[in-house]
Amino acid sequence: MAATQMDWTRAAKYFLLWDFIKGFGLGFRYWAKPKHTVNYPHEKGHLSPRFRGEHALRRYPSGEERCIACKLCEAICPAQAITIDAEPREDGSRRTTRYDIDMTKCIYCGFCQEACPVDAIVEGPNFEFATETREELYYDKAKLLANGDRWEAEIAKNLELDAPYR
Ligand code: SF4
Ligand code: SF4
Repeated sequence: MAATQMDWTRAAKYFLLWDFIKGFGLGFRYWAKPKHTVNYPHEKGHLSPRFRGEHALRRYPSGEERCIACKLCEAICPAQAITIDAEPREDGSRRTTRYDIDMTKCIYCGFCQEACPVDAIVEGPNFEFATETREELYYDKAKLLANGDRWEAEIAKNLELDAPYR
């Protein structure tokens, strides 16, 4: 007798599409709740000021490049991804004639940024720099300076926020 009642209950649920109704109910319940995911790339999550993204070479507000070609970043880079050549200028100051980073070697450790005495080389907040070829990931000085010009406001803000902890 009990078995027959269970069969009827199961049959009723089957014909009333009970599983679909439950599924829609669950879907509508979560549709109305706050979302735990973001609609990337239209929305992006929070990034820490210490986030280590794409590299950039910064300038002073005067437009003069910060890098003094001390080569500390090149020496400390564990991946040997940085190559620098330097020459003295006519005014006696020393500046790089070549500053390359092989981004295919870089492990985003941030040592170059930490070693730099003048906050010239930094890792900015940009993480969307995928390329179609390896060659595009060999960054030269012009590319790094252009990154610095593009991201200066965000980089300066991040350095300011991080300053109390350095
Ligand atoms: S982040 Fe690390 S691996 Fe990448 S260039 Fe700087 S020091 Fe080298
Ligand atoms: S980026 Fe900084 S650490 Fe590297 S050579 Fe220039 S001044 Fe020195």
